[in-house]
Amino acid sequence: MFAKVTFAALLSVMAVPAMAAQCDVTVEGNDAMQFNTKEIVVDKSCDEFTINLVHTGKLPKAAMGHNVVITKAADKQAVATDATSAGPANDYIKPNDERVIAHTDLIGGGEKTSVSFKTDELEAGGDYDFFCSFPGHWAIMTGKVVVK
Ligand code: ZN
Repeated sequence: MFAKVTFAALLSVMAVPAMAAQCDVTVEGNDAMQFNTKEIVVDKSCDEFTINLVHTGKLPKAAMGHNVVITKAADKQAVATDATSAGPANDYIKPNDERVIAHTDLIGGGEKTSVSFKTDELEAGGDYDFFCSFPGHWAIMTGKVVVK
């Protein structure tokens, strides 16, 4: 009987929704043109969400620049193409591109940056991608943004 009560008490403790929403994530990019994750989960119970980007490599921005850009999945390729046209002077983001929901600065090895954005820009269950807009990177350095 005692064991049963203890077990029930333990279950009730575990069931308490005490977990605070996770409102930030850290993404790493390296010199091998890779992110360390294929998925970013954005919790809409956060008013604002922050993406921290860390470039763990050594190569300079001009050779192996990384950023994190979020768009609708359907917009990704067109945004990446325009980003290449925008060139290094614009850090490979077309100025005022309305398809870009959020993006970090472009950084090189050893640097870090972050971006915060309102989660009301995103719909729960929507089809969003993140990627690096440096030329040639977007097809490899990409993943899903899961909005819940
Ligand atoms: Zn990159």
